[in-house]
Amino acid sequence: MSKFAWVTLTTNDTYSLGALVLAHSLKRAGTAHQLAVLVTPTVSEAMRDRLKDVYNIVQEVNVLDSQDAANLALLSRPELGVTFTKLHCWRLVQFEKCVFLDADTLVLQNCDELFEREELSAAPDVSWPDCFNSGVFVYKPSVETFTQITEFAIKNGSFDGGDQGLLNQYFADWATADIKKHLPFVYNVTAYASYCYLPAFKQFRDKIKILHFAGKLKPWLLQFNSETKQVSVSTDYAHAKDLIQLWWNIFCDKVHQSLS
Ligand code: UDP
Ligand code: MN
Repeated sequence: MSKFAWVTLTTNDTYSLGALVLAHSLKRAGTAHQLAVLVTPTVSEAMRDRLKDVYNIVQEVNVLDSQDAANLALLSRPELGVTFTKLHCWRLVQFEKCVFLDADTLVLQNCDELFEREELSAAPDVSWPDCFNSGVFVYKPSVETFTQITEFAIKNGSFDGGDQGLLNQYFADWATADIKKHLPFVYNVTAYASYCYLPAFKQFRDKIKILHFAGKLKPWLLQFNSETKQVSVSTDYAHAKDLIQLWWNIFCDKVHQSLS
């Protein structure tokens, strides 16, 4: 069994659709490593069963766990709820190294080489490239790191109220310390046009390894015609239409039937 795992998170049945498509995209790309998903109690039993079909590990994490002092302290900071939940990924200590992927990412090509990188490796964020985007990152599971980051969160909060601000504050030397920890942008390409450098998207599209549907408009929220099996996209996503169609093709081929 591989000591490496891809890890994602879902707190509800809608993001779980993203997690299911993501898992199938990883398998389609021929990964040799395990798949793990963190779920909160708000994910239905039926959906957990579907996740179990494709994930090696479906790990429940509870942001309201009364045995968790750090969690209780965070209760007075509701905006950090989801942030805290993502941090649970550091607790998967049965693995030597992991890559966290947001549930709104789609793996287009095999990326197993990411496990050669060290914590914390991530790609620059498109709107502030001295920060990394926290939708894709390489990390080393460790209960000690988990505790340190949660203590840091209680003390300092997060400058954007989300996990990205917190992790950038914690791994504060990412921008300058070690270029090997800067993943090439192809490992986390933001699909949304207003963040997109369109000529570069066209030039390098065949090199894209992971597409990230960051922002409000997720693939599962787009209009899809169940007869023609075609997705309709606004101009904001026109350049990436075939890749959004790929998300839906995987959904139709691998996920939809299992849900009914
Ligand atoms: N997430 C979740 N439920 C939510 C919001 C977020 O499970 O209600 C998880 C999910 O894995 C998601 C990640 O947290 O991909 C980060 O949120 P999102 O992708 O929406 O942020 P963005 O990439 O748009 O900034
Ligand atoms: Mn995301």
